[in-house]
Amino acid sequence: MSSHPIHHQLASLIEQTDALQTGHFELASGLHASRFFRCIKLFRDPGRSHLLFDHMAARFKTQPLSHVLGANEAGSILAFEVAKRLNVEVAIARQKNGIYSLISGFEFQPEHQVLIVDDITTTGGTAKQLIGLVNAAHATPVGVGLIATKGLFQVELGCPTEVLITLDGMDAIVPSDCPLCQQNIPLILS
Ligand SMILES: [Zn+2]
Repeated sequence: MSSHPIHHQLASLIEQTDALQTGHFELASGLHASRFFRCIKLFRDPGRSHLLFDHMAARFKTQPLSHVLGANEAGSILAFEVAKRLNVEVAIARQKNGIYSLISGFEFQPEHQVLIVDDITTTGGTAKQLIGLVNAAHATPVGVGLIATKGLFQVELGCPTEVLITLDGMDAIVPSDCPLCQQNIPLILS
């Protein structure tokens, strides 16, 4: 048991892995930003990243759960590691043409109780779609676990939400108002 609070451990991990990048980014939401949190860089060293998964699992250890659902690369790794710690099954979704669906080999049943996990959100868009995926199968979304939010928008997902870290100094702006676009700085697709 460390004497350091979780936010100190995570701040240190973010710094060590260079996960917080500066530039001109297009976010999944379509908004532009001058800072980008490349969450998957936190996972590159399993010897260090286990603390993320330990803390996320601890937030939900008293919930009745049958599955942990994550999407795309970072979300799938997160879901697998949290499911392993909570001794439940994993489910993996991916996005195609803007729509999330479970990958082949996974399905939800009405009795399933599902924790949704995601790496970082600006507006909660991915988590909302994953909740919709659970609801569409008449299963129950029990909660949402996010590694990070940017603290820019109120993320109201309609079920208990745990966030490990709120990042400071992040931005997200509509492209028509983006000062970096006006300076013709090349856009990095995130
Ligand atoms: Zn821009």
